[in-house]
Amino acid sequence: GTPLPLLEIADLHVSYGRIRAVDGLEMKVEAGSIVSLVGSNGAGKTTSLTALSGILPLSGGRIRFAGEDITDLAPELRVRRGIAHVPERRRLLPGMSVRENLVLGSYIRHDRHGIEQDITAMVELFPILGDRFAQMAGTLSGGEQQMLAIARGLMSRPSLLVMDEPTMGLSPKMIDVILDTVQQINSQGTTVLLVEQNAVEAMRLSDHVYIMRLGRVVHQDLGAKIDPELVKAFYMGEV
Ligand code: ATP
Repeated sequence: GTPLPLLEIADLHVSYGRIRAVDGLEMKVEAGSIVSLVGSNGAGKTTSLTALSGILPLSGGRIRFAGEDITDLAPELRVRRGIAHVPERRRLLPGMSVRENLVLGSYIRHDRHGIEQDITAMVELFPILGDRFAQMAGTLSGGEQQMLAIARGLMSRPSLLVMDEPTMGLSPKMIDVILDTVQQINSQGTTVLLVEQNAVEAMRLSDHVYIMRLGRVVHQDLGAKIDPELVKAFYMGEV
């Protein structure tokens, strides 16, 4: 039969006072896949991810992860279950070094040896971080900061890496680097949920794409088989 999804979001509702930012979101993420969430500004993408991490309270709906209901779990417990959230605009600790930021990403772990091994693995994934080990995170370039944010997320050894607009504000070349890395991380076994403003790039990379508008999914498709008409309709604002 069909495999159970790693993540399942059912009838999610999130409000800011009277504003219904997420209004009945339905979404599934299969283990091992890359899934993108795209949509215009204000569609509710960031709000959905923030609710998934447990930082924003829901006004309705259920979230299941790895076969269990996590709807009422505290954010830290979700990290322990295997969900790592790389937030929008990076949110690193600017006055701390690259290394210190990586160590912070492993705060839920106590296996010192494993943590050191993973720091080495992060430097292999992003060699530039190794060159900048002692540098304050706040003085890194935008692309380097994004690499560090992703690496910090990976330091909790997540099964699901959730990324909010990892290419925002980056040069075309750096966008390619980041998206290639996303693919590499996925090919090493981590499931990825991505919010991306570069919809076409996201569709190319993903196994499944959800298009959001006004707090709900208005269209979904298999990334590899994305209908060019869908991409066109997306840009015309028709979906
Ligand atoms: P973008 O691509 O512009 O980041 P988004 O799809 O991530 O958009 P959200 O940031 O989730 O959208 O916002 C969804 C809606 O909720 C918008 O109408 C936004 O104005 C509103 N909203 C977001 N954050 C707050 C907040 N803290 N207080 C009140 N309203 C908010």
